Amino acid sequence: MSHGFDTTAIHAGQDFDPTTGAVIPPIYQTSTFVQDGIGGLRGGYEYSRGGNPTRTALETQLAAIEGAAHGLSFASGLAAEDALLRTVLAPGDHVVIGNDVYGGTHRLIRLIHGAWGIEHTTADTSDADAVRAAIRPETKVLWVETPSNPLMKVTDIAAAAALAREAGILLVVDNTFASPALQQPIALGADVVVHSTTKYLGGHSDVVGGAVVLNDEELAAKVRFTQFAAGAVSGPFDAFLTSRGIKTLGVRMQRHSSNALEIARRLDEHPAVVRVYYPGLESHPGHELAARQMSGFGGMLSLELADGAAARRFAESTQLFQLAESLGGVESLVNHPWSMTHASVRGTDAEVPEAIVRLSVGIEDAADLLADIDGALAAV
Ligand SMILES: *Cc1c(COP(=O)(O)O)cnc(C)c1O
Repeated sequence: MSHGFDTTAIHAGQDFDPTTGAVIPPIYQTSTFVQDGIGGLRGGYEYSRGGNPTRTALETQLAAIEGAAHGLSFASGLAAEDALLRTVLAPGDHVVIGNDVYGGTHRLIRLIHGAWGIEHTTADTSDADAVRAAIRPETKVLWVETPSNPLMKVTDIAAAAALAREAGILLVVDNTFASPALQQPIALGADVVVHSTTKYLGGHSDVVGGAVVLNDEELAAKVRFTQFAAGAVSGPFDAFLTSRGIKTLGVRMQRHSSNALEIARRLDEHPAVVRVYYPGLESHPGHELAARQMSGFGGMLSLELADGAAARRFAESTQLFQLAESLGGVESLVNHPWSMTHASVRGTDAEVPEAIVRLSVGIEDAADLLADIDGALAAV
């Protein structure tokens, strides 16, 4: 029987403990498992790099909330991305990535995989012609982040999937910003979804983790082999925290979205703000597409001020919005991408404008957040 999103998020993989009746499955904080004679495994587990019941609970939940058959959990979002890319690419292969993807994704592909003989081209993935022009005979992967970071560009996932199918390449969607509560890339035709579960899935800024989610059985087995053989797994306690966060993802995303919309509207009216990047605003070029492919517009938005100095002043003037990297927690954060999250792409083809400030809008009371924004604007 198929359930709604919230029911699935709360129950998938989260069966009560049969030996004690504990409603919450235990945290199996163990590295290894006793064997009844050589090879006699009691629950199928041997050593926690290969598998651990707490991680299995999370992986079942991850697959279910993305509407996919297989979920794999990693020590970080970048560990997940690295395991996937090392599984599907070989030296000489080429990847097309969005031109404003997460800075760390760009750095991973450019410096780590680049040194190993992987080539890449950045393209505006919201422009199908630009993507088509970037695809070469050696291209194996199209990597899309939507909404993108920090410019909140929206890419049509179904159209990207059609394009990838036509080219015979894999479509990977980084679903970190929207989360599966608002956007279901697998249902729209993506081959693989990746996550930094550090963000909305964990949701409380207290754990770092990543995920790869997909339907293809054969590819899933290969990624699982990389996970086991290269070893970037999530530990039991991290897996537990992430599972706990996922249970409230649906309600949190509703509040993140409503708070962000109120703030976007307030910013949009202010004379000091040059532009607001939020797909929930009707003036956003991706608004109609986002309304079609997402069930809410999320908690991330960016604003453009007069120049880099004004952006820095704004980012250093908020009180409730704390100045920090990362996003997706219940508490609001402010970030100056040019000097913080996206510093590693300065001087490359993925450089972010210096006048941009990014907000991760939390689930505090909207009135308090609006007052904080007003104060920071007054300081600019
Ligand atoms: C944070 C982030 C990542 C990287 O994840 P880590 O957990 O920090 O390794 C990847 N993609 C997006 C969109 C992110 O925000």
